[in-house]
Amino acid sequence: MAKKLKKADVAIIGSGWAGGIIGAELSKKGYKVVALERGEDREVADFRGEKDELRYSQRYALMQDLSKDTMTSRATQDEEALPVRTNKNAILGTDKGGSGVHWNGVNFRYRPYDFEIRSKTVERYGESKIPKGMTIQDWGLTYDDLEPYYDKYEKTAGMSGEPNPIGPKRSDDYPNVPSLETPSIRLFKDASEKLGYHPYQLPTANVTEQYTNPDGETINACVYCAFCETYGCHFGAKADPIITVLKTAQKTGNYELRYNAYAHRILHQNGKATGVLYTDTLTGQEYEQPADVVVAAGFIFSNTRLMLLSKIGTPYNPKTREGIIGKNFTGHFSNINYLGARGFFEKKEFNTFMGAGALGATFDDFAADDLDHTDLDFLHGFEVQHQVSGLRPIENNFVPSGTPSWGKEFKDKSIHYANRHLYVNALTGTMPWDHNYMDLDPKYTDFRGDPLLRVTNKYTDQDKNLMRYAIDICTKIMKEMGADTVEPDKVEDDTEFNNSYTTGHFAGGVIMGDDPATSALNSYQQMWEMDNLFVAGASSFPHFGNYNPTETVGALAYRTADGIDRYLKEGGLLVQAEQTALS
Ligand SMILES: Cc1cc2nc3c(=O)[nH]c(=O)nc-3n(C[C@H](O)[C@H](O)[C@H](O)COP(=O)(O)OP(=O)(O)OC[C@H]3O[C@@H](n4cnc5c(N)ncnc54)[C@H](O)[C@@H]3O)c2cc1C
Ligand code: SF4
Repeated sequence: MAKKLKKADVAIIGSGWAGGIIGAELSKKGYKVVALERGEDREVADFRGEKDELRYSQRYALMQDLSKDTMTSRATQDEEALPVRTNKNAILGTDKGGSGVHWNGVNFRYRPYDFEIRSKTVERYGESKIPKGMTIQDWGLTYDDLEPYYDKYEKTAGMSGEPNPIGPKRSDDYPNVPSLETPSIRLFKDASEKLGYHPYQLPTANVTEQYTNPDGETINACVYCAFCETYGCHFGAKADPIITVLKTAQKTGNYELRYNAYAHRILHQNGKATGVLYTDTLTGQEYEQPADVVVAAGFIFSNTRLMLLSKIGTPYNPKTREGIIGKNFTGHFSNINYLGARGFFEKKEFNTFMGAGALGATFDDFAADDLDHTDLDFLHGFEVQHQVSGLRPIENNFVPSGTPSWGKEFKDKSIHYANRHLYVNALTGTMPWDHNYMDLDPKYTDFRGDPLLRVTNKYTDQDKNLMRYAIDICTKIMKEMGADTVEPDKVEDDTEFNNSYTTGHFAGGVIMGDDPATSALNSYQQMWEMDNLFVAGASSFPHFGNYNPTETVGALAYRTADGIDRYLKEGGLLVQAEQTALS
C-alpha cells in the first residue's frame, strides 16, 4: 500500500540537466519542488583521487545497473528483442546529476533548419525529396524562439568557446575564452582552412577559467586531465548539474531531492496528472507524491516508458502508423553516426594522452542543410571534428590495420604509434522513420515486474549514404594534415544496428510539434492532452541533429521552466494547437 505524502507544487522525475534546470528555476521562484532520483547522492568529493581506469572506463562505476532495469533491443519487428545487459553496450546515467556528471561537455546549438526541418526541406527541394517513411516534422518553435534560452544555458554552464564563423546569430559571446589549441588542433585547423572550410574551437563545458555563473555557483578551471568522459570531475571544472543547477536549487530551501526513489507511474485522473508513484529502493516502501505539476525528466527511455506504463497518450502503432508515444526514435550510433578517418604519422609526434572531454576543433560547412542536397541521396548533414579528449592507456591501443593483435610486432607498433596517430571524425544527423520506435516489451520485465521498454531500430540507406559522404571529407582532411597512412572507417552495405547504446545521444518517444495529431508535446514540452504534465529532455526531439544534444536539452528545459511558471499562475495550454498540412 503506497504511503501518501504532502502535496508539492511540482514533482520532478530525474535530477540530470533537464530536471535540474527546471527544479532550480522553479524553486528560485518560490515553488515547492520535490525531485525523485532513482540513484544515489553524489558530490564532487566522491570523485577525488578516483581517476581509476578499470573502475570507471572498464567497469562503468557511474552507469545504470542494467541487471535491474534496461531496454530490450532489435532491428525489425520480425525479431525477438533481447535485453541489453552489459554496459559495454549501454552507458546510461544514474545518480544525482545523471549523465551530465560523466559526460564530455561538448556543447552545440542546433541549426535553424533543425527546428523547421520539414517546412524548409519542402520549400527548398519540394515534397518529393522526403523519402517515404521518413517522419521528419517541424518542432513547433524556431531557433529565434530558443536563442535566449541557449544563451541562458551557456551562462549557467560557463561555456567556453569562440564564435562559429558560419553559425547562426547569437545574442552574446560565450562567457569564457576558448580552450587551448594543441599542435594537433592547429594542424586540423590549418588543413581545414586550406581546403576552404571554417574551423573553430569546440564549444566546451570543460570551463577554461574559474568562473562564477549568474546563480552564484563557481566552476573551476579545467586542468586537461584527460579523465573526463565516464568520470566525474574532481576539480569541479566540468559544468555538471551537481555543481550548478542542483546546488542552486538546494540553496533555495524549496527543493527536496530524494534519492533511491524509483518512479514507476505518473498518476492521473480526469485528464490531469495528480502525482507520481515511486518506490524507495532501499526499503521497498511505495510512496505517492501528489503535485500540481508533474515533470518527467528521466531521459528518453525512462520518459517514454513512464508514459506507456501510466497509459498517458496514444502508443505508436508501427503497423497503422497511428499514435505518438514511442514514435520517432533516433540516436547517434557508434557504427553509423560517429565515424571518420584515422591517420598514422611516421615523423610527427603528438601528446595523445593529455586532453579534456571537449577539447578540440570542428567545422560546420556540411551541417544540417548548409550543403545543397538537390543531387544528393540523403538529407541533413554533419559536423567534422578533431577531438583531443586524451587517450587513456588501458582503453586505447591504435596500430595500423594489418598489424597482428599480439606478439612482438604488435608491441613494437603499439609503442611506436602511441603518440603518432590522430583521428578526425564526423557526427551525422539521424532522421526518424516510421519503422524505428519504442514500445513495451511483451516478455521481459524490470526488477519490479513491469515490462521493459523495447527499442526497434534499423539503419537505412539515408544513414549509410550520409556517413559515407562524411567519411570522404574526414579522409581528405587527414591527408591534408600529412598523415603517412590514412585509414578511413567503412560503412558497408550490410552495416546494421548492433544494439549498442554507447553514445549517450538518443531522442524521441514523446515528441514535440505544433499539431497534436503528430506530436505529444507543444514547444514548452507540455503534454497537449494533459496540461499539467511536462516531459523534458531529448525525448521531445522529433529528429536528431548532427550535434551533441545537451545544449538543446538545457535550452528547452529553461523554456519549460518559464512555461510551468506561467501555467501555475494562469493554467491551460501554453500554446494553441495549429492544424498543419500534416494533420
Ligand atoms: C558518457 C557520455 C558522454 C556524453 N557526452 C556528451 C557531450 O559531450 N555533449 C552532449 O551534448 N551530450 C553528451 N552526453 C549526453 C548527455 O549526457 C545527455 O544529453 C544529458 O545528460 C541528458 O540529460 P537529462 O537530464 O535529459 O537525462 P539524464 O542525465 O540521463 O538524467 C536523468 C536522471 O533521471 C533519473 N531517472 C531516470 N528514470 C528514473 C525513474 N524512473 N525514477 C527516478 N529517477 C529516474 C536518472 O537516474 C538520471 O539521474 C553524454 C552521455 C554519456 C553517457
Ligand atoms: S578534463 Fe577538465 S573538465 Fe574534464 S575531468 Fe579533467 S579537469 Fe575536469
